[in-house]
Amino acid sequence: MRLVIIGGSDAGISAGLRARQVNPALETVLLLADAFPNYSICGLPFYISGETPDWRQLAHRGREELEAAGLELLLEHEARSIDLQAKTVRAYQTDGQPVELSYDCLVIATGAEPIRPPIAGLELEGVHLLHTVEDSIAVRERVVERSSSRALVVGGGYIGLEMADALVHRRLKVTLVEQAETVMPTVDPSLGRLIGQELRRHGVDVMNEMAIHALEATSDGIRALGSQALPQSFDLVLVVVGVRPSSRLAQEAGLSTGVREAIRVNRRMETGHEGVYAAGDCVETWHRLLERSVYLPLGTTAHKQGRVAGENAAGGCREFAGSLGTQVVKVFDLAVARTGLGDMEAAEAGFDPLTVECQAWDHKVYYPGAHRLTLRVTGDRRTGRLLGAQIVGHHQAQVAKRIDIFANALYEGLTVDAVNDLDLSYTPPLGAPWDPVQVAAQEWLLRA
Ligand SMILES: Cc1cc2nc3c(=O)[nH]c(=O)nc-3n(C[C@H](O)[C@H](O)[C@H](O)COP(=O)(O)OP(=O)(O)OC[C@H]3O[C@@H](n4cnc5c(N)ncnc54)[C@H](O)[C@@H]3O)c2cc1C
Repeated sequence: MRLVIIGGSDAGISAGLRARQVNPALETVLLLADAFPNYSICGLPFYISGETPDWRQLAHRGREELEAAGLELLLEHEARSIDLQAKTVRAYQTDGQPVELSYDCLVIATGAEPIRPPIAGLELEGVHLLHTVEDSIAVRERVVERSSSRALVVGGGYIGLEMADALVHRRLKVTLVEQAETVMPTVDPSLGRLIGQELRRHGVDVMNEMAIHALEATSDGIRALGSQALPQSFDLVLVVVGVRPSSRLAQEAGLSTGVREAIRVNRRMETGHEGVYAAGDCVETWHRLLERSVYLPLGTTAHKQGRVAGENAAGGCREFAGSLGTQVVKVFDLAVARTGLGDMEAAEAGFDPLTVECQAWDHKVYYPGAHRLTLRVTGDRRTGRLLGAQIVGHHQAQVAKRIDIFANALYEGLTVDAVNDLDLSYTPPLGAPWDPVQVAAQEWLLRA
């Protein structure tokens, strides 16, 4: 019995490892287009910043460990076609050599690819996208070996923010452009403005409501033309405006796609063709609150979906519990996090949302180092149900722990009132008798 997995990152490796745990006799072969099995692409900004000096440190597990777990890795084998009737995958090695593999079960985990926006000049030297280890090696080389000093980051989502931070760490002068009114459009504008202030505090030139149309090579570097004037030129331009699912291989094989052309799967991660599963950034994701499929490419989700796909491919029976879009990112001294729905998303989904913002100290102010957190809680006025939360605060103020409390409450379908009753830990250096999460819940209850 042979399981073939296409893709060797978060989803593919999770699938393979789980499949082997469920059925240790399963022959498990992974095809990877690149040479980086089980690398943490979430860590690329920290390799570029130099905080993680060697790209090899980004591997979640080494090749030996994966092989010891029973995974057969075929690196630099790009799958180009799948024959669902014959149950075969045709791949090509970098030298053009074809390889045909038959399978009993298949997991497609081809991930995502960066969106190439309609900007003229994306092919110019010095203009980079960022999605793979190879991309990060190229960017780092541009930064370090070519002694770049001026960088333009196009896109103020979480990767753009991490990269602005990384490039400032490298002492570059950074300009960041974002077409929305504030950076990090996945949180509400009042929090986006706090992040904008933090970027500016560290010398980043932030330009909002700005779209770049073209990039041009000049004798002084790369010039950017956009909806606002950008007089200076740049040595490095990083275009990070989101990703799209890598679903073409599945589509060409005849598998269905749905939201944003992501591969359609049910909660068992089945594609609709018997024995063929898919997981990670290439698939639609079940949203636990919306109770429908969305496109939410995140590493946390890819790991979980991969595990479900692997377990089922090996004969198990498991469903993906659903995502809430829980996310946290560090930007200079701040951490910003969200989970669940914001006001607009909740209203579109038919809820009657109320969002309340408040501030609270992360721990008792009489103990040194207290930081103020800004929290936004969204709940349904009709039922009192918690719908979402967002937090911005100092990165040492346990923002991630606190968003995870909200994420847990959402997972269990709690009301905002019930969040107030949770038995949370307290000691003055780390918290308060009413945790900031509960202060925010109480504020919501007062206004609802
Ligand atoms: C800079 C950056 C920072 C991030 N930070 C975070 C974070 O902090 N938190 C978080 O939750 N998420 C983060 N993410 C997102 C997260 O990395 C992805 O959601 C996750 O890697 C998806 O895993 P995946 O296995 O589905 O796909 P990918 O990681 O995209 O991997 C796809 C795999 O498929 C292989 N492949 C593709 N096509 C073929 C083919 N035809 N044949 C053979 N192999 C193929 C590739 O070689 C690769 O092994 C970040 C992403 C980036 C780029």
